Amino acid sequence: MTLHIPDYIRSLVPYVPGKPIEETRREYKIKKVVKLASNENPLGPSPRAVVAIRKGLKDLHRYPDGSGFGLKTGLSAHEGVFSQNLILGNGSNEIIDLLIRTFCLVGDAIVTHRAAFIAYQICAQIHGVISDIAPVDEGLKCDLSAVIEKVKSNEKAKIVFLANPNNPTGVYIPRRELADFFKEMSLIRDGSVIVALDDAYGEYRTSPDCPNPKEFLKVYPNLMILKTFSKVYGLAGLRVGYGIASSEMISILDRVRQPFNLNSLALIGAKAALEDQEFVEQSRRLNVTGMSLWENKLVEMDVPFWKSQGNFVLINAQLGFGLSGFDLYQKCLTKGVILRPVMNYGLSHALRISVGTPAENERALKVLSGFAKR
Ligand SMILES: *Cc1c(COP(=O)(O)O)cnc(C)c1O
Repeated sequence: MTLHIPDYIRSLVPYVPGKPIEETRREYKIKKVVKLASNENPLGPSPRAVVAIRKGLKDLHRYPDGSGFGLKTGLSAHEGVFSQNLILGNGSNEIIDLLIRTFCLVGDAIVTHRAAFIAYQICAQIHGVISDIAPVDEGLKCDLSAVIEKVKSNEKAKIVFLANPNNPTGVYIPRRELADFFKEMSLIRDGSVIVALDDAYGEYRTSPDCPNPKEFLKVYPNLMILKTFSKVYGLAGLRVGYGIASSEMISILDRVRQPFNLNSLALIGAKAALEDQEFVEQSRRLNVTGMSLWENKLVEMDVPFWKSQGNFVLINAQLGFGLSGFDLYQKCLTKGVILRPVMNYGLSHALRISVGTPAENERALKVLSGFAKR
């Protein structure tokens, strides 16, 4: 049998998700496994979402509302934008994919940076689009002047992808730097290059210097803000994300997306979760407490880490434990704690830990301290 496969497809390296709990139980024969590997909400889903989804089950014979009217109406009020400025996606990953499919030709380029969320590069490659990668500084912060240079010198660059704060580093670009970046971007090819600012962790922001990307919608019309229900809303398994952009950009994306890209339970669940801002607040508070516990304990254990604005923290396993991130990950697995190695980001010295419940944090800290140098 002969299969003709484009080179860019043949050379794809698939996305590596966090190791599932069930798989770890099976392989290591450990009953109580703690997963702090995928930045999921440790409180579970919003309870109001669960109730709403149960009620929605009886209508599963119907096609979903392809326009997502109810959810968009809720989001419109919540975000202070018009429904025409919103696109819904089967996770924000679908919107990343849609952006590239819609605005790039084979051989075009996206610009991102070396420590950026890896989905951007994978999605680009799937569509035969090249990733032009800017460097990061030693704090793993994106070098925005390098991004500007790349966009300027590459006529084929159609979209810039940045996450703020970024995953897996937790590091953010401060307001001033982003403002200057948009000013410069406006001057390149008439501001026609799209900037996708991924705000997956926006609800966890604590630093007043870490801007809400909505601040830049007026300054830079070709901005697409990516948001998700997978993190603070606790609905990673439901697959709901959304984008905020100009009505022009949205109407084009709406033509390209599949007509029923969100299933009916996802639409119902996300709407109910959005109305449960109390749960969001509770999740945020839990993260603040958990994050400061991690920061304090890491300092005590003499483990260097990158200060994070998300619900996770990236540690330097090499300096803290004398182990590669992957080796430390494997040692923790044998004790039933799943963390996230990040060598696919070229960060083989690092390991990412999601902030969990107090009990989960204690358990992971206990396991880690068993491997600590002091
Ligand atoms: C978790 C995460 C997302 C969420 O993706 P979904 O497809 O909505 O689950 C998006 N961007 C970044 C940077 C993330 O870390």
